[in-house]
Amino acid sequence: MLDRRIVILGSTGSIGTQTLDVIERLNTAGCKFEVVGLSAGRNIDLLIKQIEHFLPLVVSVAEEEDAKSLHGRFDDLTVLSGSDGLEKLACYPDVDLVVNALVGAVGLAPTLAALSSGRTLALANKESMVIGGELVTRILREKEGTILPIDSEHNAILQSLHAGKHEEIERIIITASGGPFLNTPIDKLEDVSAAEALHHPNWSMGARITIDSATMVNKAFEVIEAHYLFDVPYEKIEPVIHPQSVIHSLVEYVDGSIIAELAASDMRIPIQYSLVYPERVATNLPRLSLEEVSNLSFEVLDMVRYPAFATVVAAGVRGGTATAAVNAADEVLVKRFLRGEIGFTKIAEGLQQIFDSWEGRADVENEDLSLARILDIDGWAREQAAKLNL
Ligand code: MG
Repeated sequence: MLDRRIVILGSTGSIGTQTLDVIERLNTAGCKFEVVGLSAGRNIDLLIKQIEHFLPLVVSVAEEEDAKSLHGRFDDLTVLSGSDGLEKLACYPDVDLVVNALVGAVGLAPTLAALSSGRTLALANKESMVIGGELVTRILREKEGTILPIDSEHNAILQSLHAGKHEEIERIIITASGGPFLNTPIDKLEDVSAAEALHHPNWSMGARITIDSATMVNKAFEVIEAHYLFDVPYEKIEPVIHPQSVIHSLVEYVDGSIIAELAASDMRIPIQYSLVYPERVATNLPRLSLEEVSNLSFEVLDMVRYPAFATVVAAGVRGGTATAAVNAADEVLVKRFLRGEIGFTKIAEGLQQIFDSWEGRADVENEDLSLARILDIDGWAREQAAKLNL
């Protein structure tokens, strides 16, 4: 029987709530998952329900005021707050697994804290690897720690990597649905609306990641994540458009064999795999019916349709704080698009401009990478992206 003590950072978000759903299923299936700690930003009502149901020992919230009111409501509960609270929760004693389901750059410090204190990390926070990949892998090596990726693509790669040795990898193939505009005429892209962009064909996700899927920025982030998570050079990582999202990614080995992972498009499947790794547990999550799928197709990723993909991968190859710059810029540009301030194609244009001005900075050559430095560039890129005249 699997017995695990777990902390969930970002428990009220999309991945956080699905993680709790999986934990209930696992416990019904005979496992013993104990929720030791939870963290939430501003959705305090949902957090209260989660506290009442899962009875954690400790929670952390964004605002000091919310911490005070929770403290008054639950006598025996330890209540932390702010970024300091998140870091404490990430290395809370006597915990087997920390799930980082935070959204944004705020997730990097808790990732570093969890790994530094030897915790196994189930990672859904993209920014940890996208902007902090170099720092994270440094600590991983030092502490011989483990990251279990929750993102469906990397989870599929992790599963496929069990078929061979690291030196036998020929390439990693990351699938991309192509998003809602795969077949939209390219000259119409500048006029697409936020509502159209928010309609992802296969996955239900938060607003930013859905727009990032439409621009293929998300796929470029996933290439960067794969580079760090699996220690594979960029030239061996390739995207492929696979509109059905049935194959979640593949690994090709030197003998030409390609190993893929297929499953229903339900994030709870990769979440469960990271929670019970390296075992497998039967729960009643949705199953894939091959007869219903009937057709799997693949196409080359068109760089004219998705120019932001090349920009973001180039930032990854460049390394240092380049990824912090494009990530922060993208967050701002997506918000500006959702507010109707800029057109859809301006997101890619803005990203290229911010990457160019990052390249133009005198201080990024041989910079000494640290969390503070990454957050410094993050702030700079946000400011620049907010005032870009697009
Ligand atoms: Mg993904």
